[in-house]
Amino acid sequence: MTCGSEAYDVVIAGAGVVGCAAARELSRYGVRTAVAEKEPDVSMATSCRNSGVLHSGINYKPGTNRASLSVRGNAMMDDLCAELKVPIRRIGKLTIALDEHDLSGLHNQREQGLANGVPGMEIMNRETMRRVQPGVDGILGLWTPTSAIISPYGLTIALAENAHANGVDFFLSCRIEKVAMT
Ligand SMILES: Cc1cc2nc3c(=O)[nH]c(=O)nc-3n(C[C@H](O)[C@H](O)[C@H](O)COP(=O)(O)OP(=O)(O)OC[C@H]3O[C@@H](n4cnc5c(N)ncnc54)[C@H](O)[C@@H]3O)c2cc1C
Repeated sequence: MTCGSEAYDVVIAGAGVVGCAAARELSRYGVRTAVAEKEPDVSMATSCRNSGVLHSGINYKPGTNRASLSVRGNAMMDDLCAELKVPIRRIGKLTIALDEHDLSGLHNQREQGLANGVPGMEIMNRETMRRVQPGVDGILGLWTPTSAIISPYGLTIALAENAHANGVDFFLSCRIEKVAMT
C-alpha cells in the first residue's frame, strides 16, 4: 500500500482512539504503518468530545464481543494508562432507580453484569448510596467500582505520540478518497 510516495504494510484511515490504538499496537511488530487523518490533528472527531467514561460492561448483551471486550479492556486500562502516563480515576459509578418503574431495568443490568463477569458490583439502598454520593436521590442503586473516567483526547493523543515515537507515520489534513486494488 502507498500513502504519499511511501510504501506501507498497513494504512489506517482516521486518527481517532481506534486508529491510534491500532497504530500503536502494530508498531510493536515492525509492521510499516501509516495513519491518514482528514482533519489537521489527531482526535478531532468523536474521540475528543465523548463523555470520557471507561464503562464497566453492565450495559452490553452477554455473549457478544462488545460485552467480553469491554470487561477485558476495562481491566487492562490501568496498565495502558500507566505506560502512556495518562491519568485514570477509578471513581466508580452508581446507576440509580429513581422509583419502582426503574427497578426491573436495574436488576437486568445487574444480571447482565454478572453474566459478563463485571467485578465488584453491589446493590445499594439509599442510605448506602449516600455514603458514596452525598445527597443522591433514588430508591436503589447499582454500584460498579470498575467504572472510571479518562480524558478521551488525552488518551488518543498519547496513543498517537507513542505510535509515532515507535515509527508510525501520520499524514494529517489527508483525506482517503479511494482505495485502489493493484
Ligand atoms: C456523545 C457521545 C458520548 C460518548 N461517550 C463515550 C464514553 O463515555 N465512553 C466510551 O467509551 N465511548 C463513548 N462514546 C463512543 C466513543 O466516543 C467512540 O466509540 C469512539 O470515539 C470511536 O472512535 P473512532 O476512532 O472509531 O472514531 P473517531 O474518533 O470518529 O475517529 C475517526 C477519524 O477518522 C477520520 N476520518 C473519517 N473519514 C476519513 C477519511 N476518508 N480519510 C481520513 N480520515 C478520515 C475522522 O476525521 C476521525 O478523526 C461516546 C460517543 C458519543 C457520540
